[in-house]
Amino acid sequence: MSRFFSEKYADLEAYTPGEQPRNREYIKLNTNENPFPPHPSVTEAVRAESARLQLYSDPECHLLREALARQTGLRKEELIVTNGSDEALYFAFLAFCDRHTPAVFADITYGFYPVYAQFQQIPFREIPLKEDLWLDPADYYQAAGTVFIANPNAPTGIALSRKEIEGILEQNPYNVVVVDEAYVDFGAQSCLELIAEYDNLLVIQTFSKSRSLAGGRLGLAAGNPELIADLNMMKNSINPYNVNRLTAAAGVACLAEEEYTRRNCRTICENREWAKKALKKLGFEMTDSMANFLFVRHPDIDGETLYQEMKKRKILIRHFRGERIRDYNRITVGTREEMEKLVSAAEEILQERRP
Ligand code: PMP
Repeated sequence: MSRFFSEKYADLEAYTPGEQPRNREYIKLNTNENPFPPHPSVTEAVRAESARLQLYSDPECHLLREALARQTGLRKEELIVTNGSDEALYFAFLAFCDRHTPAVFADITYGFYPVYAQFQQIPFREIPLKEDLWLDPADYYQAAGTVFIANPNAPTGIALSRKEIEGILEQNPYNVVVVDEAYVDFGAQSCLELIAEYDNLLVIQTFSKSRSLAGGRLGLAAGNPELIADLNMMKNSINPYNVNRLTAAAGVACLAEEEYTRRNCRTICENREWAKKALKKLGFEMTDSMANFLFVRHPDIDGETLYQEMKKRKILIRHFRGERIRDYNRITVGTREEMEKLVSAAEEILQERRP
């Protein structure tokens, strides 16, 4: 830290992203990327768009929002696109939280929520998940703040039903409820269809997981036009060209290949269920994940050791140090072949530890 660094940030703890090794020697199951590449027409659209890079991107991303509107049945003014869904979350913290309106979220959830709150000097309240890592919707009734719920939750993968989220919306008429649906396409119910009914609902989604565009950085927020206008106010006060040309073109092309996305999601869900079964056979315990990752622990090996042993075998998984979850690892669901290698490695690691 330089001697010029603002004292505002003296206590700031930044988010630590998962490792991104430069070489390809690892099987990467640590950052919930999609194992399948973008559709060839996405790559082609990016190539074609690159010939126009001398021009700024469309600050309102009309084409992309039109394509999204067609797909979701929402109106364009109910949509904003962002540089990854992290940026949509960042804007939501800026727009809907302040000294008197704390952010409210689970004690075990996406690690960026407390970072954004601290960064923006917003008070926040963490609500403990239940013993079995289940989120009780009733804990969020009359939240007295802006609610952030990842659904499915990360890193547990456990999903609430649309009905349960609707209960939270009904019980918070004076609060914004942000539903972060980064992993919704792997088996959970989306709340997009509730937008017409609830003016306090903001749904955030990403192209990073189900749509194979993590490196393109594309996210979106959907909600009542007034909420979206608030987010646009934030965007236009920070970076009006937040989504670059290449990414916007990739997004449009990607939305035209819905069948490809769906097929990949189906395969990932099948691989998840296969891996769940195989790991359970080895004695692993896990949450009922509805996401593209598993959250697992084993009674015979601690979380940190499992992570290290996997790394020795060139498999990267994600270990968290948080008090309540340090026994666990989060494992991204990859191809069937990757899952088979993971299970073999787990078997070998456990075998070596048997007396
Ligand atoms: N929400 C959750 C729950 C996540 O796990 C992630 C991925 N790290 C994000 C949002 C952000 O994803 P992106 O910025 O790639 O859209």
